[in-house]
Amino acid sequence: MASKTKIVNLTRMSKMFQPLTTNESFDSGEKTEVTSKSHKLMINYGIIKPVSIGMYAILPLGMRILNKLIDIVDKEMANIGAEKILLPALTPTKLWKKTDRYESNKTELFTVTDRHKKEYILSPTHEEAICDLISSAGQTVHIPTKLLPFKLYQISSKWRDEMKPRLGLLRSREFIMKDLYTFDTSLDNAQQTYDLVCESYNNIFRQIGIKYTKSDMGTIGGLISHEYHYISDIGEDTILQCPSCQFSINQSISETKNCPKCKNELQSYTVAEVGHTFLLDTKYSKPLKALFIEQNKPTPMVMGCFGLGLTRIIMLAVEILSTNNEIRWPIKLAPYTVCIIPPKTGSKEESTTVYVEQLFEIFYKRNIDAILDDRTNYTIGKRLVFARALGYPYIIVIGKAATQSIPLFEIHDVNNSTYRELSLDQMSNYFDNISFKD
Ligand SMILES: [Zn+2]
Repeated sequence: MASKTKIVNLTRMSKMFQPLTTNESFDSGEKTEVTSKSHKLMINYGIIKPVSIGMYAILPLGMRILNKLIDIVDKEMANIGAEKILLPALTPTKLWKKTDRYESNKTELFTVTDRHKKEYILSPTHEEAICDLISSAGQTVHIPTKLLPFKLYQISSKWRDEMKPRLGLLRSREFIMKDLYTFDTSLDNAQQTYDLVCESYNNIFRQIGIKYTKSDMGTIGGLISHEYHYISDIGEDTILQCPSCQFSINQSISETKNCPKCKNELQSYTVAEVGHTFLLDTKYSKPLKALFIEQNKPTPMVMGCFGLGLTRIIMLAVEILSTNNEIRWPIKLAPYTVCIIPPKTGSKEESTTVYVEQLFEIFYKRNIDAILDDRTNYTIGKRLVFARALGYPYIIVIGKAATQSIPLFEIHDVNNSTYRELSLDQMSNYFDNISFKD
């Protein structure tokens, strides 16, 4: 028998907060809201829940998915020497007035006034706030050249008072973003930092594993900007892409029909934005006095900013990979990698429930997260249908074959639609041979 001490973090589905909604009673919380496959699936299966117009609670399974994505992002940010911070959600309105962004954006900004009649913005982005932070740090310590570049990022809720919230977390009024701000001594250095961050974005998207595109957003005043997209019909942008080279450009800034490099006819795709990078120069650092000392002279730092829409990435992953009835996940973002289904209470196979511990130990030892569907009042078949719909990449069933002298267990590889029966030893080998690394 397996030792009793090894099993920790055993999650039981019967104890999980996962409010389910059937298709018939689907209600996005806002009758007129435009919906999509991913929106319905994530609400129906208790991953997110609408709480008011364009605002969603992220439920326990949703938090696991988000935390896995955050983990990928944090590691890549650490690899390029970026440091994690957290800025207040509220930014003083006066900072946005200094950069002339308040008037042109105010119809989409949530604003609040405190007891002293001071006005704040619930921040949709933090260029002003971070420049003010750097500026105030500079007042106490003159920032010398050798301290730069600074690469500071945060992962937090952002707000936008959308006229028409729709498609769940794709156009919600509150969403989760990773925003990185970089500060360099010169445009050349800032360009090098920009390229470094773009490479880390490539690494992040490669790990998620869904085909992405990186499109030129053109140059404004000599500065560069790129957008990262997933190809999806629910997207709001159109890109033009060369079928043979890497050239890709947002249709909104280009009327060209052919690739400028290889002259091929460009193909158009409907896409959804998941990331955006900007080389900002001194647009914000100058008015907000984010300065460093160069030849004894205070000089504005050269800035870059880099956004990743984390809740958008999750929503689009579901939209792109799923069928109408079954969710599919990139393996690294699945809420649990493995779901174990023990026999029904009172069934002929009930005695095989003892193998749950040995199976769990296989995953625990390999640091693979697993959940137990212990709702044993339901048949195996019903729970298997449910686990497939949730899209757990590997489902293990303890059924009839587990009653044999050498017990066998069904393993369903959901993403590859394969099925086989394995002994405990074979199961260990099977998971040794799956690489969950990059
Ligand atoms: Zn080309």
